[in-house]
Amino acid sequence: MSERKKVVLATRNKGKVKEFNSLFAELGWEGISLDAFEGVPEVVEDGDTFEANALKKATTIATYLNMPAVGDDSGLEVDALGGRPGVYSARYAGEHASDEQNWRKLLDELRGVPAQQRTARFRCVLVLAEPGKEPMVAQGTCEGVIAEAPEGTNGFGYDPVFYLPDKGVTMAQLPPEEKNRISHRAMAMGNLLAAIKRQG
Ligand code: IMP
Repeated sequence: MSERKKVVLATRNKGKVKEFNSLFAELGWEGISLDAFEGVPEVVEDGDTFEANALKKATTIATYLNMPAVGDDSGLEVDALGGRPGVYSARYAGEHASDEQNWRKLLDELRGVPAQQRTARFRCVLVLAEPGKEPMVAQGTCEGVIAEAPEGTNGFGYDPVFYLPDKGVTMAQLPPEEKNRISHRAMAMGNLLAAIKRQG
């Protein structure tokens, strides 16, 4: 039996590791969490774009461990705020802000903005870096509208205030399996998978 190709997932988030693993299963690859390695440098997400951060994570880890690595970065872009919070989504209300503090700040900033101007999207960028090869970049988005008030308790981050007009509910009201089918991460993973298959 041939050894499965091993890919490091540049994240310690268990939910993401699980999602990545279902993607790699389709390719016959084995995804390994960063937690399996010692002494791996922490990568500071200080880029101006999701792509810069995902690229930095993937290439730093791939170079350090000398094996293929996938890096990701994601966040929320609100049109009425010129694309903010964007790469600052996790620390919108401050360096150690909670999810609730972040979405409350967002609702405050959008107070009085009419429904048709509350459009937004989640964006996810994934980068596969392999030593000696050009990195592969894929992205995915999920379109929605920022609600006036939070609804639902599933998910994380801005899910309670991210309303999906087609479904008539917020992301936090969706069952996790359904979120995993339509999310920006799912779209990015599908696009990365297609790019890897195209390369053969
Ligand atoms: P990261 O990609 O884990 O660094 O995510 C950055 C931030 O973007 C998170 O802390 C959330 O605030 C936001 N975010 C990313 N993906 C989602 C999502 O699926 N739902 C809600 N918020 C998200």
